[in-house]
Amino acid sequence: MRFLVLGVILVAFGVLVLAARTAPTDRQWVTAGWLVAAALPHLHASHLIERRRRDRSGTPYVDLCSVWIFAGVIALPLVLEVALVAAIYGHRWLLVNRFDAVRPPHRTVFTAATLALAATAAAAVLRATGAHEHLAQLGAGVRPGWADLAAVVTAAAVQWAVNTALVGTVIAWTVTVEHRRRLLGSASDNLLEVSQLALGVFVALALLWWPPAALLMIIPTFALHQCVQLDQLKLAARTDHRTGLLNAKAWGEQAEHALERARATRQRVGVLMIDLDWFKRINDTHGHPVGDDVLAAVATVLTRAVRRGDTVGRYGGEEFAVLLPDVDEAEVRAIAERIRLRIRALRVSTPTGEPVTLSATIGAALHPVVPAADLDGVIRAADDALYAGKKAGRDRVALAAL
Ligand code: GH3
Ligand code: MG
Ligand code: MG
Repeated sequence: MRFLVLGVILVAFGVLVLAARTAPTDRQWVTAGWLVAAALPHLHASHLIERRRRDRSGTPYVDLCSVWIFAGVIALPLVLEVALVAAIYGHRWLLVNRFDAVRPPHRTVFTAATLALAATAAAAVLRATGAHEHLAQLGAGVRPGWADLAAVVTAAAVQWAVNTALVGTVIAWTVTVEHRRRLLGSASDNLLEVSQLALGVFVALALLWWPPAALLMIIPTFALHQCVQLDQLKLAARTDHRTGLLNAKAWGEQAEHALERARATRQRVGVLMIDLDWFKRINDTHGHPVGDDVLAAVATVLTRAVRRGDTVGRYGGEEFAVLLPDVDEAEVRAIAERIRLRIRALRVSTPTGEPVTLSATIGAALHPVVPAADLDGVIRAADDALYAGKKAGRDRVALAAL
């Protein structure tokens, strides 16, 4: 993997050296100047947004540099384009990444190198089709045609594909299997990328025809960044911050849908209510922060113990809820028992060195065996079973009366 990273960086550097053999014209320098004048304020503005987003853990840095980089692919000669990528990422490192211990400098260098290569590949498409030369004469009254548009769209696709392939290969090597599904990014990630490339085309047209207008594009780029934030806020509103699980409201909504689906297909659905035993004592003995660590550790146990398609949520303080679609009584019992044993096997470290052990009582209900009219009824049945389990001595699985 190191060879790939090093290789990408060396090839990008090689491209820069080769491209530097043709010196840019004065006009091209001026175009590059306008592009930098538009990109810099945006970098600063977006870095403020990212700073505010910082405390929300787990959200990656979003950069909207593709707008400017793709504009450069269309409007600049290769040497200035590669230099632009280096300048943007060098600047970003100074602004943001150097304060980030988990993001060492070579990561920024690699990101910049992949983008430089993606941009080089895209620029090659524009040169091979003659679109680059054609568009460069916009100011001289040349009108581009459909073939130029097709070339620009192909170049955008090539830039996206090369970047995704290089970054994706590295991620595939470094992340666990469960995260591999995210290699291609979510639908909204990709929509964001495509929007950036589209805006980049307009920035390029402005640069080639009426450069000051490129500065106006800072506004929609900034608005796009705000939309990314909106998406993340939506996600945050569904998530319990302490554990990363769904919060009670979001879990309830998901469970409601699952119950409806199950009714339509006449499948059975199980609900588990899991309450940690004597949790108050853990807080009292070891302190609240250790209690918080225990909750996070239990959340990890739960997500690993259930099947794909089951829904885990934090229902209250030290109470968790799991929805199990398409199960029978034996499966509900087996899954609940597996969860109980794994919670018992858990050891959570404390500052004093003595690890905390704990147990949980689990109430389970199976719909429609429990003839409840709605989700609330099923939850109530599981809760009653939980309460009976507590009374019977805790650390056990109790099934609602069948
Ligand atoms: P039982 O076996 O009967 O369930 O006893 P318990 O002590 O677990 O139950 P109780 O309801 O008496 O106490 C729950 C405790 O959970 C009280 C509350 O302070 C604690 N708690 C709730 N939310 C959090 C949290 O986010 N962090 C921590 N550390 N503690 C929490
Ligand atoms: Mg409780
Ligand atoms: Mg409890």
